[in-house]
Parts: sequence; C-alpha cells; structure tokens
Amino acid sequence: MPPEVPGSGDTFLSQFSNSEESSEHFSPAPTGYVSGKTKFVVVIGTVMSGLGKGIFASSLAKLLQDKGLSVAPVKLEGYLNIDSGTLNPYRHGEVFVLDDGLETDMDLGTYERVLNQNLGRRNFMTAGQIYTDILERERRGGYLGRDVQMIPHVTGAVKMRLRELAMTGPNAKQVDVVFVEVGGTAGDYENGFYIEALRELAFEEGDGSTCFVALTYILEPSILGEQKSKAAQLGIKRLMEAGIQPHIIACRAKNPVLPKVAQKISMFSNVPMKRVFSMHDRESIYVIPDAMRCEGLDREILSLLHLHDRVDTAAEDRARKGWDAFTAQLAGTRDHRITLGITGKYAALRDAYASIDKAVEHCAVTLGAEVDIRWIDTSDIETGARAAASLEGADAIIVPGGFGMRGVEGKVLCVEWARVNRVPFLGICLGFQMAVIEYSRNVLGWKDAHSTEFDPKCGHPVISELPDQKRLEGIMGGTMRLGAQDVAVQAGSLASFLWKGATTVRERFRHRYEVDPTFIQQLESAGLVFSGRHPKHPIMQMLELPVKEHPFFIGAQFHPELTSRPLVPQPMFMGLIAAAIAQRDPTFAQSELGRRWVRSTSNAPSQPAA
Ligand code: GLN
Repeated sequence: MPPEVPGSGDTFLSQFSNSEESSEHFSPAPTGYVSGKTKFVVVIGTVMSGLGKGIFASSLAKLLQDKGLSVAPVKLEGYLNIDSGTLNPYRHGEVFVLDDGLETDMDLGTYERVLNQNLGRRNFMTAGQIYTDILERERRGGYLGRDVQMIPHVTGAVKMRLRELAMTGPNAKQVDVVFVEVGGTAGDYENGFYIEALRELAFEEGDGSTCFVALTYILEPSILGEQKSKAAQLGIKRLMEAGIQPHIIACRAKNPVLPKVAQKISMFSNVPMKRVFSMHDRESIYVIPDAMRCEGLDREILSLLHLHDRVDTAAEDRARKGWDAFTAQLAGTRDHRITLGITGKYAALRDAYASIDKAVEHCAVTLGAEVDIRWIDTSDIETGARAAASLEGADAIIVPGGFGMRGVEGKVLCVEWARVNRVPFLGICLGFQMAVIEYSRNVLGWKDAHSTEFDPKCGHPVISELPDQKRLEGIMGGTMRLGAQDVAVQAGSLASFLWKGATTVRERFRHRYEVDPTFIQQLESAGLVFSGRHPKHPIMQMLELPVKEHPFFIGAQFHPELTSRPLVPQPMFMGLIAAAIAQRDPTFAQSELGRRWVRSTSNAPSQPAA
C-alpha cells in the first residue's frame, strides 16, 4: 500500500501539490483520496446541444452499474446560477428537486430514473457555485496574497469537487466510476474551464483512469439524402484543440451511421473504428442501454479503464432481467387505453412536466395501458361548462404544481369537475392546494376561500404562507420548503393502501404555501381526509376522499413524480392510472394488478382509522 499523504492521498498524486502556493502542479484532493481507485468517464457534446447527452451518459452509467460497479454521475453546468431554482421551466425544462433539497435541472431526473439511485448536491455543479466558493474564500483572505486565477484556482476547485464526489461510494469507499457530463458543447465559452479542469484531471490521475467520450452528430440533410461527417469532424477538432483526445466517439444520427462515415471520423480523430459507435435514433430511451451493450460500448470502457476484474456477472444477469422485463412490456400489447387530462400547457414544451410524463409512462407500461395525454390550458377556463367541455372524455385528471396566478381559477373548476363526476383525480402541490380551495368553496360554502399566494386578503385563506410553521422545521423565513421529508400516513386510508400499509413515506417537496391549520378541523368535519401529515407538526401533506364518495381522489403537497422510477413506479400514479382503467373495464379490478392497485369499497375499511 502506498503511504497516504494527507490532502493528496497517495504517492501518485503527491508528485503534484495540494497547495496553490508551492507549485504550478496544483492538484487538490480530499484527505484519503487515492488516485486510480476511481475511474472517470467524461461525456462532452460536440456540434450541437439537444443530442440527449443526459440519456446517453446515464445509460452508459447504468451499464457499468449493472455490472456491480458503484457509479456517481455529475452534471457540470456552465451557467452562473447557483442552482436551477430560479430558471423558467418553460425555457429550461422542469426544476428537479433532489432528496437533499437542491434544485437542479431535468437531467438529474434522468440519472435518478435510469440508475434508480438518489442523488444529492455533489452530483450537480454550476459555474455559479464554483465562483461563489472562490470569491468567498478570496474575501476571507484564503489565497494569502496570491492573484486568484482561472488556472489553477477555478480548475482546482472543479477537480476537488470531482474527487470529493469520488469519495462518496457505499460504506465510505471511493466509487468505482464517476460519470461526468459537461453541459453545452465543446467550444462554448461557458464550459471552457470545466474542459480544462478535466484535461488536468486526466493527466494527474494517470493513464487508464479517464475515458473521454465525444458525443457528436452526423448530419443527414434531406436535400442530399446522405450522411455528412464534416460537422462532426470539426466538433471533435474543437475538443482536440482544448487538449483532449477522445477515446470513444458516439455518433448521434437519424439512421445507423454508415461504415464510410465512421471511417472518416475515425481517421480524422485518431480513434480506432472499434471505438466509433452509431447511436442512431431508437424507438424508446429504455432500449438504449441494451443497444450500447450490443455494440460493445461497455466492453470498450471496461478495457480502457482496466475495470474487467471488478465486474460481477451474476449481478449483471439480475439487473438485466429486471430491465429487459420492463422493455418487453413496453414493446408488448397494451390491453387498456385511457385518456389522461393534465392541466398544463403542452404548447409550452413537455419538458416543463418531464417527470410527470415519465411517471405516467412507468405506470402505463407496468399496468399494460396506453395513456393518451390531453394537455389542458386552464387560463381560458372560466366557467364549469368550459371545464366540462375541456375534460369531457378524460378518464383521469392530474392538476400539477405551479406558481403564479395564471389559470388558477380554471384549475379549481377542473378539480370540481373531477370530484363531482367521480373521475380519478391526482392533485400535485399547487393541485393539492386547489383541491383544498375547491372543497372549501363548494362543500363548506366558503365562496371567498383562496390561497394568500393569489388573494392575500381573501375571507378564508385556507392556503397560506406560514413562516411560523416552517420555523418549526428549522426552515429559514421566506424560503421554500425543499427536499425530502417524512410523511406520516393514516392507517386505513387510500394512501396507506397505495403504499402497502407503510406508516411513513418519504417524498420531495418544493413549496412555500400550505394548508392553514386553523381550517383543518372544519375541512375534516365536512368529509375531506388529510391522510398524510408531517410526523410532528400540523402540516398537511396528503388529502383524499373516502372511497365510498369517490373512486380515486387524492392530492399531495409533495411532488410524487420526482420519485417514480421505471422499475419502481410511484404508488399515487399507479393508483390513478389503475382507477382509470377500472372505470373503463370493471373486470380489471379482479385481475392480479387490479387487486393490488384498485381501491374499492370491498377492500377499504368503512372508516379510516383515526
Ligand atoms: N405555488 C405553490 C406554493 O408555493 C405551489 C408550488 C408548487 O406547485 N410547486 O406553495
């Protein structure tokens, strides 16, 4: 065993320095870090963004994870925001909240779903985070009179964070492989310092420690009707100009990449043909891992990084079985067909609701249903008749989360339609709050009920911002309640049925407003059941109607879509889709899946236990 040098970890790294003062070789590493233990796979895009880099990188990570290796992905964002919390979802896609409360971009959702692994703040880096750390340290005098520079300080901070991530493996061991996805494309101004940091990292970690994968794009203009490699060549050159020789080239393309095109790319980029892969469009993202394996991409990575002897083939067989069963179901016939109304503006890009879309897909595949999604813009729904016209024919309804006044009244009308017509309903975050408002107005008769987010002076502020409540949980005033929290589930409730009798579940939150406890008792006396609560404080986290009143009416203050995974679909979504199928096809309730997921008066206690 090489002696461990504090702060640099091993003999190899100790030829570099962990102090910016003493050497031009500045290579910071956390205490105990040993180079060579953790391997790095770096995915960098060329030619253009939007090639599905996140799906590519997560599928690759999955292949290695399946082999029993521990993996840790990280997305490097070039923007100056500290997190994605302030980004407009209609421009950038949804804000994906991690277990520890960090607001990140939708790619982290892809990693969590594909890897079935919870991620945290170490898995997401932005230029804003790096610069903030550096500038704060500068103000504290942390650089001891030195000028603070992009190299070595900024690149050093990036390397340090990557090595810290490497230290987060199971049982406090180093992970086998860190997967680094660089946001943007080679040549962008914003990500230049990340690419430089990765070049340095590869040099310092030594041969066989880092594998660079260039994800490129093969054009196939319809006027020519043939594949052209020039843009890909130029893109890869951009990377080589930055001092990075890719080991693997993955070519995104509409159709399988022709050998002569692959040969050109191989020739101009010094990458042998066996490492130039065609990553053409597939019918579904779920078949990509298998497609990569068939092409031998995983084997090349194992060879380049000398990882063959860490592979556990029995683990791989098990993992493949589960995933293959899912993809088989995906391709198989669907016995049921339902229409799901979602009150969101599809025109404003499906990416804004990516996790809901995925959660529905996971459940649809598992339950053998074809789900047609109807996106409903509620901003022009002003009357019950308009709501009915928009929702007519929908077998289930989701009112998702949101911020801002637009379309709020229309959402309340949609909840009313679902409740009165006994159409399966799932309210998420804002949708949960809308359900409380709807019940207050139409069942309790408080016509002036609202949320103080939209009408601060309303007569019945059933949803309010309650800083004192948040203080109970130690959340600072004004900020949102973010990240995973335990939810105590009421025994005998629909929620309890969906979670197989679990008394506590853990789900992720992102909200500022909540049910005002002053009104809880009256709402409950009028028949609304708060079946999920904060384990200690009067914070309402799930609501529902008894099954004798409504086949499936449930709401969550949290975001259930964030925790749904292909092989572990989220229970509330399963319940919703199953209830919709059962309404259409009563025999479904008697099937094995139906018995598991459809709540009926026969399998529900008459009165949920208090
Ligand atoms: N605007 C509401 C709140 O802040 C709901 C937020 C959401 O749906 N994510 O509480």
